[in-house]
Amino acid sequence: MAQKIFLIEDETAIADSVEYSLENEGFEVMTAADGVAGLTAARTAFPDLIILDLMLPRLSGLDVCRTVRKESSVPIIILTAKTDEVERVVGLELGADDYVTKPFSVRELTARVRAVLRRAKNSAQAQNEMQLLKAGNVSIDLARRRVTVGEKPVHLPLKQFELLKTLMSYQDKVLTREYLFQNVWDSDANYDTGTLDVHVRWLREKIEKDPSRPRYIRTVRGVGYKFVAEADNKQN
Ligand code: CA
Repeated sequence: MAQKIFLIEDETAIADSVEYSLENEGFEVMTAADGVAGLTAARTAFPDLIILDLMLPRLSGLDVCRTVRKESSVPIIILTAKTDEVERVVGLELGADDYVTKPFSVRELTARVRAVLRRAKNSAQAQNEMQLLKAGNVSIDLARRRVTVGEKPVHLPLKQFELLKTLMSYQDKVLTREYLFQNVWDSDANYDTGTLDVHVRWLREKIEKDPSRPRYIRTVRGVGYKFVAEADNKQN
């Protein structure tokens, strides 16, 4: 699918040539010729990147930038005149990702667009990876609070979810019953191994193929539990 670039620029000649070139490069391009229309469309069209001129009628580019950044992390490249150094600095402080100084070659702008899109993609990927815990065929999507075993979504009540999250955050490490209890339940509550053991049993029923011979959540006798990431033949 083509990436959507939204160009907010009131100078028709510049807008036309940028639009033409980016479309030739395989992008989908939308345009607006003033700040108010630009802001409205930016909110509804979900572009992958915004190219924003700073000198715009009705609402300045800086105001558009400030407002967009409050609401979204969409990458923004600002277009500035050579004499607009202060505005450019303010634009970057407001959260613009890069700038291009007029007059510019469309080729230079295209290179910046690609670089900014690449950076945005990498940081989104890094963020997603941080929010995913995975071991064997069990994964937890922390942001969406979703657990899957194999391809199958598994619904876990809050305490079981928190318990699994804690265990999987320390894969292959033995966690004491006390530590688990304090982490998952209110740490001021009375330490109650019975409650913990019952939740471990329920959790095993949800994620283990054979809950009586758990592959993931192993009991470490007299101590606590351990989430085993790598499958082996030993069963505790
Ligand atoms: Ca302008």
